[in-house]
Amino acid sequence: MSNDKLLALTNNPFLSQVYMHIRSLKPIQYAALKRRKAPAWMYPFKTEMMLKNFIGGILNDWVRITEVSILPNIEKWLNENKTRFDAWEDEKDNAEKEMDSLQDYWFKGVGYTILVNKLRQLFWDVQTFNEKEFVKVINHISGVTPNIFENFLPAMEKRWINDNVSLIRNISDDYRKKISMVISNGVSNDKNMVGIRKEIESLNTEIQGSRAKLVARDQVGKINGQMQKRKQENIGISWYTWETSIDERVVGNPNGLYPIGNKKHGDHWALEGKICDWADDTIYADTIQDAMKGDWKKRTTQMPKTIPGVEIQCRCFATPIMLDMLEGLAA
Ligand SMILES: [Zn+2]
Repeated sequence: MSNDKLLALTNNPFLSQVYMHIRSLKPIQYAALKRRKAPAWMYPFKTEMMLKNFIGGILNDWVRITEVSILPNIEKWLNENKTRFDAWEDEKDNAEKEMDSLQDYWFKGVGYTILVNKLRQLFWDVQTFNEKEFVKVINHISGVTPNIFENFLPAMEKRWINDNVSLIRNISDDYRKKISMVISNGVSNDKNMVGIRKEIESLNTEIQGSRAKLVARDQVGKINGQMQKRKQENIGISWYTWETSIDERVVGNPNGLYPIGNKKHGDHWALEGKICDWADDTIYADTIQDAMKGDWKKRTTQMPKTIPGVEIQCRCFATPIMLDMLEGLAA
């Protein structure tokens, strides 16, 4: 073994442990270990659902103000506006004030602590789930249980909580602006009650359903994908196999629901089974042998330039490459 290869091993306590372990195996045992197919790295759907419900619940408070202080008044405003142009302004101001105090509650006051604590709890739910998958997969492919030293978690936690708080804030700001616009436009253009109510109801449905769902999916997917990467890198894994769920919902599957990738969601099908490098999201290799020879290819414009699990609705995961890498080091 060359010196720098030896160094790569001794510098990494877990890899040296695996190395010692596989050297203790009989050839037939080693062959059996190598034939093992890694189990899928699962996704924390339950936590995603909890985050969705939590965000939906907060946003619901804004909807309630609209329903209590705005909707019942619109007809009156429409009538009054026929005689007095700004009749609705005062009452609309009251609703705005209620929304201001709600904003203060969630983003400055007591609610902020509740918000942050809940997000923290959900972050650690994802982490606990991800940790189990990590130990399960690594144990399965190497025969050794990985040691855990995850010093990256506190910074990741802080960033994730901050991101989520601003996302929720943005959605509520956006909702307020839109509601206010629907009313101003509706009242000053003398639209009818049914039309205004319909526009508001569709905003309410959007904020309670799809927006919360989108944020939850995006945020849990991102953090789960990043944890997967950092955990693997931490124990010395540099390469992984990109794995899709191989069904009709994988983007790029020519026989599936979304045969063509786009900017928001690349062609993940094209990376199925390909070898990828954690350090460089712009390349891939067709086989482990190619990667060992340094025969990497540039990802095409259709392929994702990111890690598995991060693009919206992505259900892909990364199966770590370990034994081939150790063989490479030992060669
Ligand atoms: Zn994917």
